[in-house]
Amino acid sequence: MSFRDKIARFMYGRNGMDAFCRFLLYFAVGMLVLSTLFSRVPFLSALFLTLEWAALIFCIFRTLSRNTVKRQQENAKYYQFQQKFLLWCRSVKDRWQQRKDYKFFRCPSCHALLRVPKGKGKLVLTCRKCGNRFERRS
Ligand SMILES: [Zn+2]
Repeated sequence: MSFRDKIARFMYGRNGMDAFCRFLLYFAVGMLVLSTLFSRVPFLSALFLTLEWAALIFCIFRTLSRNTVKRQQENAKYYQFQQKFLLWCRSVKDRWQQRKDYKFFRCPSCHALLRVPKGKGKLVLTCRKCGNRFERRS
């Protein structure tokens, strides 16, 4: 039996590498870089090294785990979180690009984001999500 076959037999029924594992590996590398950068601050360096090892151990545990249902649930949660984060990044980018023409406000009751043209003076804004009315200067 070749080494490759032995590995394949060992990994049979196990979770293996998934997107969340790859994220954990990148996170671990990031923590290693940070701990190197902050090597003169013992507390921070130790903290980053601990996080790095925790991520690495969790990654190895997930890769070798036979409880694939639970690991797939974790991976799905990771994908949800990633989607939310990407949407938030796009929202920040859009607001930055439109900052000269529009002003952005949060609805005081439901925290929805409202966009109004700049330079229109005092406006009564109506939230499209909850219908709440409030006054702001644009
Ligand atoms: Zn609202």
